[in-house]
Amino acid sequence: MSDCVFCKIISGEAPGDILYHDDLVTAFRDIHPVAPTHVLVIPNQHIASVNELDEDDEMLVGHLFIVARQLAEREGIKISGYRLIVNTGPHGGQVVYHLHLHLIGGQRMRFPMG
Ligand code: AMP
Ligand code: ZN
Repeated sequence: MSDCVFCKIISGEAPGDILYHDDLVTAFRDIHPVAPTHVLVIPNQHIASVNELDEDDEMLVGHLFIVARQLAEREGIKISGYRLIVNTGPHGGQVVYHLHLHLIGGQRMRFPMG
């Protein structure tokens, strides 16, 4: 998608603090971190949101979680804990319409959610 900022980060057209990249996913630091660790893990393929996933994407979605866990370990927050968030649509607070998994940690998360 030519006008998608996350696609541009993957292609190198836009700057990004990339932590991980493989055939399926890319991870980079959120530009406005809400905690000491705030990383976004995204599919390399442009998928707008969870609503646009289909059955063939099951492995991809699982891989997003595995990579998030690996990055949690690398960031030193695997044991202390973290939050994984996928905002979807207007009520979900989604702003960027390229599917992304937020990995947030390094401090105690606040409750309640919602
Ligand atoms: P969401 O509300 O789930 O769509 O979150 C979008 C996230 O993308 C926000 O946390 C933004 O701070 C982050 N973001 C937007 N543009 C960039 C960018 N160019 N590089 C890194 N993170 C970004
Ligand atoms: Zn995109």
